[in-house]
Amino acid sequence: MKIAIIGAGFGGMAAAYDLRRAGHQVIIFESADYVGGLASGFKEPHWDWSVEKFYHHWFQSDKSMLSLIHELGWDDKVVFPRPYTVLLHNGKWYPFDSILKVLLFPGLGFGLDKIRFGFVGAYLRLTNNWKALEKNTAHEWMPKYAGREVYRKMWEPLLIGKFGPYYKQVNMAWMWARLKARTTRLGTFEGGFQNFANMFAKKLRDSGVEIRLRAMVKSIKREPDKGLVIEAGEKEAFDKVLITASPNLMTKLCPDLPENYLKGLLELKSMGAVVMVVSLKRQLSEQGYYWFNLPKEEGYPFLALVEHTNFVSPEHFGGDHIVYAGDYLETGHEYFSMSDEQLLEQFTPAFKKFNPAFEKDWVKKVWVFKTNYAQPVPLLDHSKNIPAIQTPIEGLYFASMSQVYPWDRGTNFAVEIGRRAAKMMLSEAAERAK
Ligand SMILES: Cc1cc2nc3c(=O)[nH]c(=O)nc-3n(C[C@H](O)[C@H](O)[C@H](O)COP(=O)(O)OP(=O)(O)OC[C@H]3O[C@@H](n4cnc5c(N)ncnc54)[C@H](O)[C@@H]3O)c2cc1C
Repeated sequence: MKIAIIGAGFGGMAAAYDLRRAGHQVIIFESADYVGGLASGFKEPHWDWSVEKFYHHWFQSDKSMLSLIHELGWDDKVVFPRPYTVLLHNGKWYPFDSILKVLLFPGLGFGLDKIRFGFVGAYLRLTNNWKALEKNTAHEWMPKYAGREVYRKMWEPLLIGKFGPYYKQVNMAWMWARLKARTTRLGTFEGGFQNFANMFAKKLRDSGVEIRLRAMVKSIKREPDKGLVIEAGEKEAFDKVLITASPNLMTKLCPDLPENYLKGLLELKSMGAVVMVVSLKRQLSEQGYYWFNLPKEEGYPFLALVEHTNFVSPEHFGGDHIVYAGDYLETGHEYFSMSDEQLLEQFTPAFKKFNPAFEKDWVKKVWVFKTNYAQPVPLLDHSKNIPAIQTPIEGLYFASMSQVYPWDRGTNFAVEIGRRAAKMMLSEAAERAK
């Protein structure tokens, strides 16, 4: 078969890997001039490692990602340090990334709330019945079972931060997945995620996959006697096509999809993200904290501050200290139209809260990254609204972050869904050949 994949992110490349190994001709169309998609990174000339445009790490439970790396023979390139995630209480930061650390956290008191939190935490980690949970919103379920105070202090700020106006509608299965799959050790790839993406792309090219960069696909149509015709500058026909872009883009690329499938795509909600990356002359969090969870009600101009070089050594960045300040936002938010300089002005005064000695002249360089599609929003009964991977157009497949569920999106699940789509394409072809 001649197969096209739209997108050289982790999902598209993982699908290409399996389809090529099954003996098919595979061509990837990628509109950017690099591979890696949302998990891609950038590098200054004096850095040995790249930095992800949007903060990225793996969990030890990221089985699909880690087993792909194992198959590729690159286990020795994965590192799992133990960085610290902290939460604010009465103006002080407390470690907050394990059940023990949460039980020691003074913000929840030491009475009934903690006991309830302990039971609810244990229940959510043990149960696999997320289907029952997706019938409730986290906003109703959490205060009812974990207690109002625990919800207000711990979970409500997280939901508000991640889902903005939709936070009361997010289902409880999302929260379950978050508690279930997370580990305290966090992983990365030697050289950064971009190094993994580049090595993977090279492996694919060496095996015969063609990766076309700067190849923006404009439309995909099934034409009689030709198959699926892709327009990306020129027209070219394929037997099968897999799209890994956002649902919104999918509707634009394939307007011939039946109305109910298109409607399903358009009804999916998601949040965008704006992330500022700065390189600093000095370490910001001298306690060595990696991830600061920031309750919006405390008036911070961003949701998370992440000091990457408290996770990966500054040695890899020529001694620079790398800090992210980011937020999940609706695409109309003013941050999307602000210049890099304006965002720097907006964000850096808050840096003093992490280190009172911070001065603006610590900033060496600033980069700002924006995306309209960063975080799908899972509403009630989301499992019933997920668009099928195999679309109603024969030979056309769709695998995006919005179909990753009940788990929260991530490169691990991009690899999982990409490989699942490849398997479906192969078995459908085998069925036809019978
Ligand atoms: C702020 C933020 C933080 C995150 N943190 C983490 C984390 O810590 N750990 C983790 O594992 N994951 C994290 N993720 C999620 C992770 O980046 C994604 O789940 C994953 O990269 C999605 O891969 P994908 O292949 O499905 O899609 P994408 O990476 O979006 O790839 C789709 C590709 O399609 C291309 N494309 C789109 N339209 C066209 C077109 N018309 N023609 C040709 N090409 C096209 C795009 O350029 C892109 O390269 C984070 C994401 C964000 C935004």
